[in-house]
Amino acid sequence: MRKLILVKFAPEIFLKGLNRGKFEKKLKDNIKNVIKGLEYEFVEDQGRWFIYSEQLDTIINKVKNVFGVMEVCEVTQVEANLEEIEKQAVLEMVGSPAKTFKVETNRANKSFKPGSMDVSRKVGGCILKNNENVSVDVHNPECVINIEIRKMAYIYSKRIKGVCGLPYGMNGSTMLMLSGGIDSPVAGYMMARRGVEVHAVYYHSHPYTSERAKDKVKQLTNILKGYTGKLTLYVVPFTEIQMEIIDKCREDELTIIMRRFMMRLACALADKYGINSVTTGESIGQVASQTMEGLVVSDDVADRPVFRPLVAMDKIDIIEVSRKIDTYETSILPYEDCCTIFVPKHPKTKPRLVEITKSESVLDIDKLVEKAIADMEIYK
Ligand code: ATP
Ligand code: MG
Repeated sequence: MRKLILVKFAPEIFLKGLNRGKFEKKLKDNIKNVIKGLEYEFVEDQGRWFIYSEQLDTIINKVKNVFGVMEVCEVTQVEANLEEIEKQAVLEMVGSPAKTFKVETNRANKSFKPGSMDVSRKVGGCILKNNENVSVDVHNPECVINIEIRKMAYIYSKRIKGVCGLPYGMNGSTMLMLSGGIDSPVAGYMMARRGVEVHAVYYHSHPYTSERAKDKVKQLTNILKGYTGKLTLYVVPFTEIQMEIIDKCREDELTIIMRRFMMRLACALADKYGINSVTTGESIGQVASQTMEGLVVSDDVADRPVFRPLVAMDKIDIIEVSRKIDTYETSILPYEDCCTIFVPKHPKTKPRLVEITKSESVLDIDKLVEKAIADMEIYK
């Protein structure tokens, strides 16, 4: 008898046709990466992935958060004979608080006799004989005893949900505009979960935004890194740009012009590091700058696709994800953001591109962008 983990991957990976091998390899590498340093043995058996280890709980907690993992199961391996299987199935049921159960058998080893249905029936009967307090419910059981018969037999009932998604690093890359707020870390997580490699940029308005605000963004970067493995944060100084805008442009156009600069900087950085796209945490209608017209006018300066995974989500649902991914408590720390320190009294909610382009023409845009990037700090 031996305890181990069975890793099941998300069904989407099965749909990859000829590319399936590449997706599987990436997922396997990513799994091995998060358990690096722990004692384990990774074994493949007819398309099933097993991890043997003395540190099962630690490994389960890490592996379930790897994108592309659908489920991790705590499994007991026994000799493939009916007597051993029955013995373990009875133990499994004793360890469960459930009052109803069913047995499901899967025989990869077709030479094993009896057949799957018979194994389920016999094992079910054996459990009932040994435990008067439980009964069979095939439609809605509280506990499913799974039996997989291969060279060895594997018995499990404890199944832990994984994050699903696609293997990180399989779907291009994006430059995430990461503020200290609730939304952008969630946006980054959602892109990463689809396999997109995430890089982050934070616009820092020293001395109007404090070191603590910057530290908070670093902390959020660290939490996201728990899902992505590595993550580079670019901190770009933004004060000079803001001062120029305040000095030379109309007050009600401050926000939209500032947002266009943020977009230009993200694209310039993406270009510098060969990153395909830009991601923001904007959601339609959430604040005055996130109107359809505002988003369209910001996108006008982008030279690559801009993704807004939260665009159609309600705030309440975004908060739920941020709690789940553990960024919420950090995001609500009350430090200032560069967007909130210079807010016009009546920002334009329906900016027009021709007008904004005209207002901006008094600024030396290229020079401002170049200088900000030249002065940035990089945290690997
Ligand atoms: P968040 O909760 O992500 O801060 P928000 O609801 O506060 O979003 P805004 O302040 O309008 O909305 O910002 C919209 C988006 O612009 C953010 O989700 C983020 O992607 C980007 N952004 C805003 N401020 C910064 C910043 N200082 N550095 C980098 N990106 C920023
Ligand atoms: Mg914000």
